[in-house]
Amino acid sequence: MPSYRIPTDDRVVESLRRILSTRQIVDSQRKLKHLIEKDLKGNEKYRVGEPRLRVLAIESGLINLEIRCRDTHEMRSLVRCPVCGNRLRKVRNMTVFGGTVTLGYRCDRCKYWTGLRRRVPTRYIFTRRS
Ligand SMILES: [Zn+2]
Repeated sequence: MPSYRIPTDDRVVESLRRILSTRQIVDSQRKLKHLIEKDLKGNEKYRVGEPRLRVLAIESGLINLEIRCRDTHEMRSLVRCPVCGNRLRKVRNMTVFGGTVTLGYRCDRCKYWTGLRRRVPTRYIFTRRS
């Protein structure tokens, strides 16, 4: 039975830096995960979860993240960003009656946004920040 080790945050970010030194763009999260695991592999095998990898990549400042989404009809209020876990900011608009109305949500960290009809992330594209 194969056993896997969990790399530290620093090792994941170092590995990301190495990968970006040879490529400008990684066009899926799964691909990035495979590249990182291959890069870290030595005598031992490493495994890194995709959501963790995504957050580390965002926090590293090494990449620009493009988030592709699909539209749904689901109306549900959101508190946390589905991409990075940050607290979402409500996007509001003034009404003619002097109140405010929520139009959607926005994440200041990873730039995810959604209207009241929820946009669900389906693909992530990682581009080296120049
Ligand atoms: Zn976010």
